[in-house]
Amino acid sequence: MVTIFESLTWHEVKVTSNSAARHIPLAYGEVGTGGTRVTLIAGTHGDEGPWSALTMKALLQHPIESLKGRIRIIPTANALAAEANTRNSTIDSPNPIDLDGVFPGNAAGSHTERLAAHIAPLVADSDVIIDLHGGGSWCVNAFVKRFEGSEQLAADFGAPFISNAPNKPGGLTTYARGLGIKVVNIEVGGRSGDEMYWHDQIVEGMERALYNMDVLSLPAAPAPAKVSTDVSKTEALRALVGGIFVPTLRADAVGTIVPAGTEMGKILDMHTLEELQVFTAPHAQTAMMLLRPEICVVEGSGLVYVIAQPV
Ligand SMILES: [Zn+2]
Repeated sequence: MVTIFESLTWHEVKVTSNSAARHIPLAYGEVGTGGTRVTLIAGTHGDEGPWSALTMKALLQHPIESLKGRIRIIPTANALAAEANTRNSTIDSPNPIDLDGVFPGNAAGSHTERLAAHIAPLVADSDVIIDLHGGGSWCVNAFVKRFEGSEQLAADFGAPFISNAPNKPGGLTTYARGLGIKVVNIEVGGRSGDEMYWHDQIVEGMERALYNMDVLSLPAAPAPAKVSTDVSKTEALRALVGGIFVPTLRADAVGTIVPAGTEMGKILDMHTLEELQVFTAPHAQTAMMLLRPEICVVEGSGLVYVIAQPV
């Protein structure tokens, strides 16, 4: 059996980068002609990338005969940031630039702006964009951002939570939506003992979405998606001061709803171990959208949780 993955044709674009390497590759694979054109992209934020990249390979293990549309994958959109394990690469001067904030890019700009300019035509040449973010090296999360006109696509993932996407100027999905493309933003998974569970959830979600959009035929219809809990506007909870973060809720709490007063975690002074801040769930039903599952040192103002309330 020849798989869809084995049938990919790979392309490589050279993006001007540091002087030592001259160029950093932007690689993408394509397979199929005709039908619905789907682009999967991972790692626009470098510290969120590898988990989502792996889901693409798992998704494409079906026989090539089952492909009815065209699939393009961009496993690592922001290679320098991925290598540095940071959200943005540090190559842009004078300040780091968020790749997911400069679309459609600038072919004569700095590295990240040029990267966006190379990715933008690949976005534009699509009917559907699945933009894979997720938790990553320091957090886990469990939600999907839904866009108007792409409600079914978001629901197909069966993520624990679903929220309406904000309009992010310069964002990849905002750019795609402006072109009338169906989009979804996946914020699922990240580094923890459960990373393969969330990997598998994403793969199943993509299979269901591609099947429902008639891009992939399967021997049997996929099981219906779990019903996601609709949440209101999300809230970011940050450290008041820096220190040693000690989670009370661990990786298995992401995607759950906890009652008000539940201790989520605390911050201790790194010099004296004095308790500086205790995070407790503020709402009768506090939806755990994103959390830090492991002990770490967190900077003052660092993001520690994203929570919401069921609608
Ligand atoms: Zn991201």
